[in-house]
Amino acid sequence: MSYRNYIGGHWVESDDGATLVVRDPADDAVVGEVPRCGASETRRAIEAAAASLPGLQATDPASRAERVSVLSRLMDERRVELAALLTREQGKPLAESAGEIDYARSYLDTAVLEFRRMRRERSLDPEETGKDVFVEAAPVGVVGVITPWNFPLAMLTKKLGPAGCLGCPMVVKPAEDTPLTTLLLAELAEQAGFPPGAFNVVTGSPEAIGAELMSDPRVRLVSFTGSTETGRLLVRAADRTLTRLLLELGGHAPFILTESASMEAALDGLVGAKFRNGGQTCVCPNRILVPESLHDRFVDGLAARLDRLVVGRGDRPGVDLGPLVNDAAIAAVEAQVRDAVEKGARVVRGGGRLAFPGLADRFFAPTLLDGCTSEMDCFRIETFGPVCPVRTYRSLEEAIVIANELPAGLAAYVWTGDREEGVAVARRLECGIVGINDPAPVTAFTPFGGVKQSGWGHEGGAAVLGEYAPPKTYSVGRFADDP
Ligand code: ADP
Repeated sequence: MSYRNYIGGHWVESDDGATLVVRDPADDAVVGEVPRCGASETRRAIEAAAASLPGLQATDPASRAERVSVLSRLMDERRVELAALLTREQGKPLAESAGEIDYARSYLDTAVLEFRRMRRERSLDPEETGKDVFVEAAPVGVVGVITPWNFPLAMLTKKLGPAGCLGCPMVVKPAEDTPLTTLLLAELAEQAGFPPGAFNVVTGSPEAIGAELMSDPRVRLVSFTGSTETGRLLVRAADRTLTRLLLELGGHAPFILTESASMEAALDGLVGAKFRNGGQTCVCPNRILVPESLHDRFVDGLAARLDRLVVGRGDRPGVDLGPLVNDAAIAAVEAQVRDAVEKGARVVRGGGRLAFPGLADRFFAPTLLDGCTSEMDCFRIETFGPVCPVRTYRSLEEAIVIANELPAGLAAYVWTGDREEGVAVARRLECGIVGINDPAPVTAFTPFGGVKQSGWGHEGGAAVLGEYAPPKTYSVGRFADDP
């Protein structure tokens, strides 16, 4: 099926007619074709966005928020279709795709909620200051949105919710592997009443589209979710325009098991958090730290759980893990396992690709590596795949040092039988989100963001609008007719 881009309320091809093929990562079947756009199409999308800004700002705020709510309802109505398309372009199991639709909607709903409760004005006491001073959150203007392939819809609605409510027009660039659900969402946004120019989608060359978004002074914020490497590129590209950046970058979450933890619950929690989306999430536990005394029981229990995981194409019932998203993704996981083995790790389970007749070579076995160390890539570089590297520690103090030793600081997990111990350890972890006996600490209702090199700014919860509407101060002096 041939898809078009959505620019200024029109469904358009690329200027030279070039296209990009989107394949199902499970079997390489062609799912769709999208325009391969670059600088000129992006410029037109920015123009359309800028042209829609005055109208959006003049629109009654309640009706802007209502459009976002309508979009959320339309996503629910088209949930089955959206989930099926998501599984086809991304590979994740259907149940997870359906879960992503709900999760994506929760970002829209949170934005609407926070927008309705936004305090528009805070006056200082005019008696005291002799002035009338008030502060308003002022919509930032045109927003460039760059999204990743692991949660193409949820990472988009995180940004679309606040921008839509605040009347900030968007130019969206989805990832090359997963542009189709974004284009379907554009169709729903059109139905929900987003006016021409308010929501534009440009697919194609990341470099060309990204460069245009970063160099056009009409784009006032670029909101990006993706790798730390690309985040750095965007920071460098902002040196002339000083475009604001909201960056949600990589993590490499530690999972600390303490002596007092309930082993069964910890193992269930770890498996739940680790294998979501086949381990292709920026918050999944990637560095598993276990006290020496519990090591053998832990590794046995984890191996038994890995044996029960079902790998296969995402649209088959009962599948826990689909294919990895593309060849580079599986090659990177393979390289990490090879590096760990060369440096002395033991493969307890998995360790390589699984072959299925008639399917692509992109299925990786749930893998348990034991005896890992800080020298191994799997303990240094973000893993995006179904690999559990285990390492022992002697004291909790040592575990905290290991947990904090990387430049990334997004999520972390602590599993313990002692609430106070859990909170005390969690307080010392350098990260933005920590699950204490909780495998799913991320929700739309709480701020999401990292520290150190995991990014700039927050999305979700009370922070959902902030980056899109920085405060603006109005200081009103005296008028001739003042008493
Ligand atoms: P990953 O390596 O996990 O695919 P990326 O950071 O490359 O993560 O991808 C996240 C998003 O960033 C995707 O939409 C991708 O197309 C986009 N991207 C990649 N390179 C650039 C770039 N040079 N400029 C702008 N966007 C880019």
